[in-house]
Amino acid sequence: MTDCIFCKLARGEIPTDKVFESDTVLAFNDIDPKAPHHILIIPKKHIATLNDLDKENISIITDIFLAVKIIASQLGIADSGYRTVFNCNRDGGQEVYHLHLHLLGGRKMTWPPG
Ligand code: AMP
Ligand code: ZN
Repeated sequence: MTDCIFCKLARGEIPTDKVFESDTVLAFNDIDPKAPHHILIIPKKHIATLNDLDKENISIITDIFLAVKIIASQLGIADSGYRTVFNCNRDGGQEVYHLHLHLLGGRKMTWPPG
């Protein structure tokens, strides 16, 4: 989508603090980090929310979690632990309507989330 901010990041039209890239996903530091490590992992192709996943595009979830594993290892937080979050729609707290996984680490997370 032309006016989607994460599509613009994926196309390189807006500079980003990239931490990982594959054919299908891009990972970059969140602009407003909620933990010492706060990375967003997005599909390069536009998918608005979790509700827009289907049999054709669901393999992106595998690609995203393979990226999580690589990034967590690179950051040295694989063993200490981390949290992964997909926010979906209004009640889930989604603000950017381009699918993204939050990878948070570097501190002890609390439960339940707010
Ligand atoms: P969500 O509330 O799940 O939609 O999360 C959107 C996230 O995108 C927030 O954590 C924002 O801080 C982050 N964000 C928005 N714009 C940018 C940007 N240009 N670069 C990096 N992170 C961004
Ligand atoms: Zn998009």
